[in-house]
Amino acid sequence: MLDRSNELTAWDRDHFFHPSTHMGGHARGETPTRVVAGGEGVYITDTTGRKSLDAFAGLYCVNVGYGRQKIADAIAEQAKNLAYYHAYVGHGTEASITLSKMIIDRAAPAGMSRVYFGLSGSDANETNIKLIWYYNNILGRPEKKKIISRWRGYHGSGVMTGSLTGLALFHNAFDLPRAPVLHTEAPYYFRRPDRSMSEEQFSQYCADKLEEMIIAEGPETIAAFIGEPILGTGGIVPPPKTYWQKIQAVLDKYDILLVADEVVTGFGRLGTMFGSDHYGMKPDLITIAKGLTSAYAPLSGTIVSNKMWQVLVQGSDQLGAIGHGWTYSAHPICAAAGIANLELIDELGIVENAGATGAYFRSELAKAVGGHRNVGEVRGDGLMAAVEFVEDKDDRRFFDAGRKIGPQVASALLERGVIGRAMPQGDILGFAPPLCLTREEADIVVKAAADAIETVF
Ligand code: PLP
Repeated sequence: MLDRSNELTAWDRDHFFHPSTHMGGHARGETPTRVVAGGEGVYITDTTGRKSLDAFAGLYCVNVGYGRQKIADAIAEQAKNLAYYHAYVGHGTEASITLSKMIIDRAAPAGMSRVYFGLSGSDANETNIKLIWYYNNILGRPEKKKIISRWRGYHGSGVMTGSLTGLALFHNAFDLPRAPVLHTEAPYYFRRPDRSMSEEQFSQYCADKLEEMIIAEGPETIAAFIGEPILGTGGIVPPPKTYWQKIQAVLDKYDILLVADEVVTGFGRLGTMFGSDHYGMKPDLITIAKGLTSAYAPLSGTIVSNKMWQVLVQGSDQLGAIGHGWTYSAHPICAAAGIANLELIDELGIVENAGATGAYFRSELAKAVGGHRNVGEVRGDGLMAAVEFVEDKDDRRFFDAGRKIGPQVASALLERGVIGRAMPQGDILGFAPPLCLTREEADIVVKAAADAIETVF
């Protein structure tokens, strides 16, 4: 292939408005443009021919790995036969209807009944909030509307979902609405306020903080709690033991709905089909996206429980058709990608592999870097892992923000041929590789991480 890197780099600087990028810095050439050209298995290559092991699966989404012929064929077939038809007023396609059945087959044990399709995790969470408000209006409690999210939670970048997101970067100068969103304690055991607390005690502390907030606001005003089973963008932080059981008890006590945001954890990342199964959560709504198609096409979903569905149906009997829809909801090309992807996940035993290889990867990573003087913690679950850096191991002191330790380690890692992610808040290097990762590939990532850390410190 002709190397067009220079030309593309120039066009990129002049025309492309990138998401989550320092705009001025990129235009001045301070962040390099990398033109990604191909992918195979867990590797990507760029237009200069440089190959990297993608240990973040894009943005924790290419779960079955790159270059899967089966999904590519399914997309091409669907595009030839029927590129598009909408899903309004009862319309469907063979692909969208089949995929809805496949999703509910997997989610039915958790009491789920229907799936509403969108295109991104953000729009699926927007749908969740509208359905929650609609539900409470139909039940005759119009004041029950506030949504509690958590500091460090990530739920998207829309107006409402950006508000739910509890990371400062996503709020800066956007004037996102504060009400009706509240943020409670992050279940971040490493940064617990009192180091003498056990995991269970810290979980109880988080549940008590939540209950205090509910009582202070008035339980009759709180509609729902939204959380990722394991915090992702907020630093890859697994919940401390018994966290979800304790949170669930508070929600049940005050009749508050639970939204499990499984955009990252859905379809196998923690070694179970859903993260909520893994941690014993009992959600009323589940958000899915990324792993639904392994990012071969944009598709998301809001999975609705039986309990909510009954009320929503009652709502349309009172009010008529639900006034909520996207042109591309249940897009047949994306649905065809989803079907092929879910079939591949089963055929290849991807969920089981995420559990087994994940445990191996995390334990090797902890052995290789956990003892380093600047590593405060190595943590994770399934095929998600994080290394948190500290200035001082004993008192968990943060580095001066100006040192940008996470990005430094991530670029040292990239020089060694491996992609990890400097998480947006804190000095944290994250890993979320494709779920087809082998032990040999895990070893490559661990070795590169250990070398990169040695170089930076
Ligand atoms: N929810 C979670 C847990 C996510 O991690 C993300 C994206 O990373 C989103 C929602 C938003 O998804 P999208 O970027 O597709 O809008």
